[in-house]
Amino acid sequence: MTTTTEALVSEPVPDLDSDSPLAAFPEGPRLVGTRCDVCGVTMIGSRVVCSSCVSREVSALALPTTGELYSFTRLHGRGGDIRPLGYVDLDGVGVRTLTDLRETSPLVPGMRVELGVDGDDWFFAPASGV
Ligand SMILES: [Zn+2]
Repeated sequence: MTTTTEALVSEPVPDLDSDSPLAAFPEGPRLVGTRCDVCGVTMIGSRVVCSSCVSREVSALALPTTGELYSFTRLHGRGGDIRPLGYVDLDGVGVRTLTDLRETSPLVPGMRVELGVDGDDWFFAPASGV
């Protein structure tokens, strides 16, 4: 006798339009997020399944364009290239994301940062007016 165990998520998921979480909204380019309608967790990017409770009852939303720099580092590459990377806590949604940073002023953990867009690239930079 054979026993089959069905996985909780065993169906193929539909292709998503893009790997980038960046999308156009009436107010300008924003990062797309997904909020779980069951447990309330918010995630960055388009999801079809909640990464916390595995519910398929999820809704898309535009994520905040501002946040707080949690931590950062600078990657030193060949030829002297320096690439600042950091974790940003987005305002009010409980999302911490790894992101490229632009060092338009000296970076300090805890500082206010805002989303910037350059073509298809997105990054966070110190908030203007700080
Ligand atoms: Zn959930």
